[in-house]
Amino acid sequence: MNNSVLDKAQQLREAVRHFYRNEMPAGLRDKSHRHQVLDKQDYLQWMQLLDQKGWAAGHWPKEHGGQEWSLLERFVFEDELARLGCPWVIPFGVKYVGPVIYSFGSDEQKQRFLPGIVKTEEFWAQGYSEPNAGSDLAGLRTRAVRDGDHYVVNGQKVWTTYAQWADWLFCLVRTNTEGKPQSGISFLLIDMRSEGVTVKPISTMDGYHHVNEVWLEDVRVPAANLVGEEGAGWTYAKFLLKNERTAGAIVGQARHVLDRLTLYARETQVKGEPLINQPLLRNRIGEFELRFLALEVASYDAVMAMLEERDNGGEASLVKIRGTELYQEVTDALLDAMGEAAMVFDPDALHTADGLPPLGPEDTGGILKEHFYNRANTIFGGSSEVQRNIIAKVVLGL
Ligand SMILES: Cc1cc2nc3c(=O)[nH]c(=O)nc-3n(C[C@H](O)[C@H](O)[C@H](O)COP(=O)(O)OP(=O)(O)OC[C@H]3O[C@@H](n4cnc5c(N)ncnc54)[C@H](O)[C@@H]3O)c2cc1C
Repeated sequence: MNNSVLDKAQQLREAVRHFYRNEMPAGLRDKSHRHQVLDKQDYLQWMQLLDQKGWAAGHWPKEHGGQEWSLLERFVFEDELARLGCPWVIPFGVKYVGPVIYSFGSDEQKQRFLPGIVKTEEFWAQGYSEPNAGSDLAGLRTRAVRDGDHYVVNGQKVWTTYAQWADWLFCLVRTNTEGKPQSGISFLLIDMRSEGVTVKPISTMDGYHHVNEVWLEDVRVPAANLVGEEGAGWTYAKFLLKNERTAGAIVGQARHVLDRLTLYARETQVKGEPLINQPLLRNRIGEFELRFLALEVASYDAVMAMLEERDNGGEASLVKIRGTELYQEVTDALLDAMGEAAMVFDPDALHTADGLPPLGPEDTGGILKEHFYNRANTIFGGSSEVQRNIIAKVVLGL
């Protein structure tokens, strides 16, 4: 491995730490650190701060406003943000649709959409999943029929994250019902203000509004909003999903919550003794530390294999399974350690304004919210079962 790649990645990690300590607004930092609810304004502020550093689209080509980060820099950037407890880098624009547009879109689409994506001036949502088309995405049935200069779209998307905030939806639609299911899919950009678009919230058990149904009824979409060729949407969809799986954040999140567990166990006294002296909890933390080390090594190996183009396609699946499962288990352990304090959950209290004191010890409410929400981490981005299928196929040859 070329030393300059490693050096650049390390410099980026240090720059992120410096930014977190010295430049990130304290209100946003505290809210995020405590897993409190961030609203659209918080996310806009966050993404625009990243843009000012040149980081929002750091992995993009220079000609489109990026810095051409290596895969390692990309990994380290997300990993470090997550370790520090920073907000999520909203992926729908900069990670997902942006690269599809600059790789496959027309010149008009590049000019129209890329600047607003880099600066998060427009908010995007991902219209892939449908009822009965999640893991089996090629089964999607939302229909787009050409009518002169437009497509007329009818169907329903589901689990659409932040559709309630979105200006645009990048959407997989079926333009042909004949042949292999994959071959009749196209990639359309749909203005969420179009007539016939209805967003219906889905309540999740953390009491927050993350996901939605998006109903599309006779929505007229200019044919100029078709990305690439009609019927080639499956290729673009797979290209995008590859970006979905390069998640350094999975490792960083596990580290962050493990640090919180250890700190909590050190600082909390039970009957005059620090909690960390309890053998069972101590053992549990020790095991998590070992599993984290293995995850960290596996994830660096995975990035290196991808960088050197010797990956077999199973590495990202391994990191996704191990990272998300560890994150869930460490969060469970933190709740166990918090005992009775973790039994009260008031979602409304998670909207506290800047500067107000936390809800309880170590902001128990925020951890509970995270515990409820992170059930989803082993489902989205490819469920653990589907990741295991990938490993069985590409690594074990089954
Ligand atoms: C919080 C959240 C946010 C999301 N955000 C978005 C979004 O913004 N945009 C979007 O398009 N989608 C989004 N999704 C949808 C997500 O991509 C799907 O939930 C995921 O692909 C799984 O599909 P499904 O829910 O239809 O479950 P299914 O595919 O029906 O799976 C049900 C169960 O069967 C298992 N299973 C399925 N197929 C196999 C198989 N071949 N072998 C073994 N087991 C299998 C799965 O692992 C799972 O346990 C989101 C989901 C969640 C939970």
